[in-house]
Amino acid sequence: MSYVSEVLDKISKKYPEQAEFRQAVKEVLESLSPVIEANEEKYRKEAVLERIVEPERQIMFRVPWVDDNGQIQVNTGYRVQFNNAIGPYKGGLRFRDNVSLSIIKFLGFEQIFKNSLTGLPIGGGKGGSDFDPKGKSDREVMAFCQSFMTELYRHIGADVDVPAGDIGVGAREIGYMYGQYKRITKTYEGVLTGKGLSYGGSLVRTQATGYGLLYFTDEMLRSNGKDLKGKTVAISGAGNVAIYATEKATQLGAKVVTLSDSTGWIYDAEGIDLNAVKEIKEVKRARLSEYTNYRPNAVYHTEGNVWEIPCDVALPCATQNELNLDDAKKLVANGCIAVAEGANMPTTLDATKYLQENHVLFGPGKAANAGGVATSALEMSQNSERLSWTFEEVDKKLQDIMVNIFRKLDDAAKRYHMNGDYVVGANIAGFEKVVEAMIAQGL
Ligand code: NDP
Repeated sequence: MSYVSEVLDKISKKYPEQAEFRQAVKEVLESLSPVIEANEEKYRKEAVLERIVEPERQIMFRVPWVDDNGQIQVNTGYRVQFNNAIGPYKGGLRFRDNVSLSIIKFLGFEQIFKNSLTGLPIGGGKGGSDFDPKGKSDREVMAFCQSFMTELYRHIGADVDVPAGDIGVGAREIGYMYGQYKRITKTYEGVLTGKGLSYGGSLVRTQATGYGLLYFTDEMLRSNGKDLKGKTVAISGAGNVAIYATEKATQLGAKVVTLSDSTGWIYDAEGIDLNAVKEIKEVKRARLSEYTNYRPNAVYHTEGNVWEIPCDVALPCATQNELNLDDAKKLVANGCIAVAEGANMPTTLDATKYLQENHVLFGPGKAANAGGVATSALEMSQNSERLSWTFEEVDKKLQDIMVNIFRKLDDAAKRYHMNGDYVVGANIAGFEKVVEAMIAQGL
């Protein structure tokens, strides 16, 4: 049995209930096979794979809080500190009702390689809770965030572990958690990223994942003799990533025609009106169904999904496993030339394979959506320097980082004679650096 199969087998037996985690490990390890086979003896001796799939530390805790009716509610908090070989643990916090240890572990595992790809000194971690801020009052969200941080604070620090936002954790939640951290520890340090601009946040952090996705996609298209100008783009999601992906795609001359949320999706043949979406999602925190009040010619659907709309470029920016094999078949049949993942693991393994077999350029999330964490690392640098950089400075650094990420994975794929396979390229490029650091530092 190959080394990779052995480790996958162990993971399946040890964590049978952690479907998302097993899926992420399988995707990464299988695509690393060429590197692992080339170094098998050394990696086995060092137990590199067994070490890399096991988090260094995972913390689970009770989060009690009082709702607006005076009722005590109890949620579960998580922080998985996966790997700090190349820097302090870094990765977002997700607040959503379906959050489980499996989801946090899959995200933390992917984060190791993503962070490594950015070229910045950050390790991999992830956290969150099965609490969903949707439909809660500001006071309830604050009560939850304060309680969550009352336990989390002892496990994190500017040089230890620096969480950020993810699904359900935006500027409001980060603010409440930062306030509580400061209150408990008496320290003013860059322990969270995604902070407000008035208290240590970085310009461009809000836009970074969406903008970075487009810088990456543009570079991927250019290196294949194409570009974004005049292209029709389908985007899913209507949150932070989707909104700023839409903004940058439009700035680069493409037309975005779809967006979605968890209750439905919109098709606007004339191109999405982003001001309307920002007002619905960022100001009113309402449902996307309201979009047709702003744009009567647009169509709102509750059945099917955005992938049935013909497009040149598809950017899944909502959540995991939202683009499956049937969706991939529709995209190919409609002439789609590129898919780049704004969300984490939005494309199922069989869909990814189908897209690649049909010569659709495929940018995996750990590379394509790394702009968010890269800019978080730039926020950490600014906090350490106690300086703030201009929008243009940060945006330029982000652009350079995304272009470099693409070049690194293109290069790694070519080194292993898998030209154009950016999934393999991303995993190899991210993995090599982390493993070198792990081996150098001993057990
Ligand atoms: P947000 O919470 O801002 O937005 C998520 C969007 O996706 C919302 O519109 C939400 O709809 C929709 N959504 C969530 N679950 C589902 C579902 N099951 N079906 C359909 N739609 C769904 O999150 P972000 O934009 O920050 O994150 C989106 C993805 O990008 C996640 O996978 C995240 O891990 C990833 N990512 C985010 C980064 C960041 O910097 N924000 C960085 C790197 C990756 P609704 O409004 O109804 O909840």
